Amino acid sequence: MQISKEQLSEYARLIVRTGANVQPGQVVQLSIAVEQHEFAAMVTEEAYLAGAKKVNLNWLSDGQDRLHYRYADEETLAVTLPWEEEKLRQMTKDLPVRIFIESEDPDALAGLDPEKLSHVRQRRSAVAKPYRDAIDGKHQWCIAAMPSEPWAKKCFPDKPAEEALSLLWDAVRRTVRIGEKSDAVAAWKEHTSRISEKSTWLNNQHFRMLRYESSNGTDFTVELIPEASWEGAGSTNQENGAYYIPNMPTEEIFTSPMAGKCEGKLVAVKPLSYNGQLIEDFSITFENGRAVSCSAAKGLELLEKMLHMDEGACMLGEVALVPKESPVNRCGFLFYNTLFDENACCHFAVGQGFKEVLPDGDNLTTEEATAKGINDSIIHVDFMVGAEDLSITGFRADGSSVPIFRNGTWAE
Ligand code: ZN
Repeated sequence: MQISKEQLSEYARLIVRTGANVQPGQVVQLSIAVEQHEFAAMVTEEAYLAGAKKVNLNWLSDGQDRLHYRYADEETLAVTLPWEEEKLRQMTKDLPVRIFIESEDPDALAGLDPEKLSHVRQRRSAVAKPYRDAIDGKHQWCIAAMPSEPWAKKCFPDKPAEEALSLLWDAVRRTVRIGEKSDAVAAWKEHTSRISEKSTWLNNQHFRMLRYESSNGTDFTVELIPEASWEGAGSTNQENGAYYIPNMPTEEIFTSPMAGKCEGKLVAVKPLSYNGQLIEDFSITFENGRAVSCSAAKGLELLEKMLHMDEGACMLGEVALVPKESPVNRCGFLFYNTLFDENACCHFAVGQGFKEVLPDGDNLTTEEATAKGINDSIIHVDFMVGAEDLSITGFRADGSSVPIFRNGTWAE
């Protein structure tokens, strides 16, 4: 594989310094696949060089997960053991910087019992939730990716493994802006300040409604929550003021729209990978804020099932703006990983909204957030609507309007 050591260490440094922004004296918790042990060592060393007090490793393995789900019974897998819970409790004391490196095979769990998977996940996350909530807003975290052979083969099935891997690395490298300018850290400064500039502009416009139109049939309006803000790029750890970037790459500016307040038809411009299966050439029509009908050339049944997962699954939880020049879009293929695919172009998500977009949102209960218009659901699924000629117009409370997007990108 032709990944240069220099670029890999530049990437490790970018994740630690710009993404997670590790501060002297902080504990770091790195979650990464066992196959990526060399890159794990690079990230670990960078974290220590940034002043980390201790770097704790959390090793992941697709292969082991598959075996557990295949052979161990549901009850055994669903129970969180006392020592596992103790680890979670420790996290609320250490407030570690959490770094996640994704490299999993998109088909890792294909063919396993989906009910067993979701029951185990539900019960484990119910135990972990109070601990996660307790550190919300009080620690830095960053999710980035490192290509693996099975993942690369999924993206480039016709290529030999080694070539697939180097193609995927090259794409990941471009999306995280390594090798573009002399220094990726400087390139990210420029990138995040442009995103902040746009989100500030959007917040100052106080739009109450957005109208979407494109020649593929998208014709749609959605209402926004008056006090919700547009967010993008980075967040700030309220404990120490450290600015960090939760997702690398990141291109989107997003908010949660008013649940139950949208009308019209959205036509997808990219296939949707859901539970390991593809939904292709699809559209969803909304009435009174709820998906009432959909069409798909492939995977229609799956799409309908998804929209009926629970009460909130047929309503919107996210609206996100991404110009068509996004480096992810320019790669021109499906990554089968939301970290990348949702940064390709403008999208919506059905399902769970983000209460963080409300003032003091982190401290609101689910009921309080729902009362303000944030959708609640067990799913959150992004789908892309950013057509080449997409236009988005913003409307204010007084009826005045401003072009936001024209021809798939910022109007100005
Ligand atoms: Zn998004």
